[in-house]
Amino acid sequence: MRLVCSLTSDYDVIVAGAGVAGCMAAIEASKQGVRIGLFEEHPQVGVPSHCSGVVSLSGLKLLGMTSNQAFDQRLIRGARFFPPTGSPIEITRPEPVALIINRMKFDQYLAKNAINNGVELHTKSRITKFEKTSDQEIQVTIQNQGVVGAKVLIDASGAGSRLPTQAGLKPPDWSQILPGLQYELIGTDRQDDLVNLYFGSKRAPGFFAWSIPTGDHSVRAGLATSKGNVRTLLDQLVKEYWPKSKIDATKSGSVLVSGPVDRCWSPGFIFAGDAAGQVKQTTGGGIVIGGYCGMLAGKAAASAVKNPRRADQFLETYDHEWREKFSSDLKKMGIGRRLFFGLSDATLDKLFPALEPLLGEITDVADMDFQGTVITKLLANRKLASLIPRIAADNIRSLFS
Ligand SMILES: Cc1cc2nc3c(=O)[nH]c(=O)nc-3n(C[C@H](O)[C@H](O)[C@H](O)COP(=O)(O)OP(=O)(O)OC[C@H]3O[C@@H](n4cnc5c(N)ncnc54)[C@H](O)[C@@H]3O)c2cc1C
Repeated sequence: MRLVCSLTSDYDVIVAGAGVAGCMAAIEASKQGVRIGLFEEHPQVGVPSHCSGVVSLSGLKLLGMTSNQAFDQRLIRGARFFPPTGSPIEITRPEPVALIINRMKFDQYLAKNAINNGVELHTKSRITKFEKTSDQEIQVTIQNQGVVGAKVLIDASGAGSRLPTQAGLKPPDWSQILPGLQYELIGTDRQDDLVNLYFGSKRAPGFFAWSIPTGDHSVRAGLATSKGNVRTLLDQLVKEYWPKSKIDATKSGSVLVSGPVDRCWSPGFIFAGDAAGQVKQTTGGGIVIGGYCGMLAGKAAASAVKNPRRADQFLETYDHEWREKFSSDLKKMGIGRRLFFGLSDATLDKLFPALEPLLGEITDVADMDFQGTVITKLLANRKLASLIPRIAADNIRSLFS
């Protein structure tokens, strides 16, 4: 079987998944004049939406974007961190540092951009199989439709993708996906311009809970956890902080904390975004990193198509380029995650007050996307070093619990 419903021709580059990584990849590749087919399994791009939509303004700039009425919800000046007990600490700036976006609208905005650049978008089209058919050709199977040929597949199909294995590559450790749940709450008390993060075994064991102001009287409240029932924990949080609010919508999703894969390419195949584990292990955030890596993947795939004799070299270069940009910070975030998320409530309650005198310094170097500098600074701090025996003991205990 060859033809896929309305497809009239095969492509140079096929992109699996119209999320942020896939759309950015398709846009970048199309700018180089190659034929792109973007395949999305759902009937509508961006639906269902799983994400909280917190994105730094500097990260947005990295993606070549600014805030935009098409997807903006609210500007944010910083974050408030709640320990298991006691008072929260705040990291804030006088000016906005982040934007809350409507993730559904954001993905749809990107997909429209891709179409305007000549990309052919196919919804209700799930890619189930990747095959290398000859030296310079690949083929993918679209569920219930047939096969389509191209020269490169960019897999941007998100957490849990099976396509890398079919290309002979090792995917991220999919066992390191945490279940996440969010409520869109309306009718809350008045909200300020800070994101709130809640820590501790009673709130979200092994991760954290959050509330993100989406309007003056509405929040996106959610959590991910490595233990316990995510809905019960979220209901408790809502009862504690917004008892009079109403749930307007519920979203569930998989928060990936595995860290990136060792290799992101094989002949005719590259992968980007959550599919490749390109997310911050401290927060599971992947809009900026995944989007940026998607851009690099799109450029590399188009160059490979235009220079068939050096195709492998371009795909391999993608793997070097994205690591050069992000891998040092991702490694440090991995260490930060391993140290911090195994801590007992008692240690967290000691750690938060110890951080208080350092807040000025932390604010100076804090960067939502490149967290390596702040993690190094905290690990080198003498006052925090006194907590290391406790931290080590907690982490050893958490291995056995
Ligand atoms: C609860 C939650 C909150 C989050 N909050 C934030 C946040 O505030 N900030 C942040 O930066 N990150 C956040 N993230 C992470 C962020 O959502 C992801 O890192 C980001 O969406 C990854 O983008 P992606 O394009 O790689 O994958 P996705 O956004 O998952 O897109 C993959 C696309 O591929 C499609 N697809 C899947 N399989 C196939 C297939 N076989 N064929 C065709 N199409 C397919 C899917 O339908 C989807 O549209 C959050 C995640 C969760 C779960």
